[in-house]
Amino acid sequence: ERDLLWKVHVRPVSDGSILVSFEDISGVEQAELVRREFVANIGHELRSPLTAMLGFIETLRGAARNDPDARSRFLGIMAQEAARMSRLVGDLLSLSEVEGSERRPPAGQVALDEILAGAVEALRPVAEEAGSTIDLDLDRAVPPVNGERDQLTRVARNLVENAIKYGGKRIGIGLHMATQGAPEARISVTDDGAGIAPEHLPRLTERFYRVDAHRARGAGGTGLGLAIVKHIVSRHRGRLLIESVPGQGSRFTVCLPALREAPLDAKNG
Ligand code: ADP
Repeated sequence: ERDLLWKVHVRPVSDGSILVSFEDISGVEQAELVRREFVANIGHELRSPLTAMLGFIETLRGAARNDPDARSRFLGIMAQEAARMSRLVGDLLSLSEVEGSERRPPAGQVALDEILAGAVEALRPVAEEAGSTIDLDLDRAVPPVNGERDQLTRVARNLVENAIKYGGKRIGIGLHMATQGAPEARISVTDDGAGIAPEHLPRLTERFYRVDAHRARGAGGTGLGLAIVKHIVSRHRGRLLIESVPGQGSRFTVCLPALREAPLDAKNG
């Protein structure tokens, strides 16, 4: 799969011969390469809004100084660019926080139906603005999962935001137990939007991977949403499944191990 990289050590030995040894550094180099690429991407992503803002500042100081119309238009664009940078920085911080938390198992017990209902409530205005409707189909009998509320809310929001951003007019959000195997809660977010061609599916959760960078940026995406989702799901010992038919829509399913036991308060009351 990965390229093998060897570090070659050549050392003279006391009897006059030379000792050659090989050290496999593929793993280290690979990690270093990924890190360098990530930093370069961040630089690139931050530079474009900054360049735009610097350009408008120049214009506002010069040609457009006494033109109130141009001034308000340019300030509007600058505000948008600043908001884009702010989203990017916010997502970078979330990603680093999520990665930092990955070794600690989540401590709380979380009712997924509440999380989903809350996330949808928060996003209804965004959906309405985009002309999308959201249908909820939540099985209230799904037991809670071991999890961190804020992180799982983040997962739900990112998936629903994507469903809206990538053209879903009817978005379905489901919560059900898996019908076979270990007890597993399944959250599904289904849309009837643009869909994703199969060759992109394996790379979708990579940082800054976008199917159509222009469209994604225009929709306000940072390219980090699914990377964040992937890390949170893996911290919760879950799985993320992505299915899509281009032109018909996509379904993102998050499977999380469910606690067999009903929560304490439900037992008592
Ligand atoms: P972005 O901020 O660009 O939305 P994400 O990590 O959330 O970044 O998603 C990565 C890419 O996956 C998107 O740019 C888009 O091409 C694709 N994608 C994600 N969700 C959907 C969806 N529901 N329908 C179609 N494409 C999607």
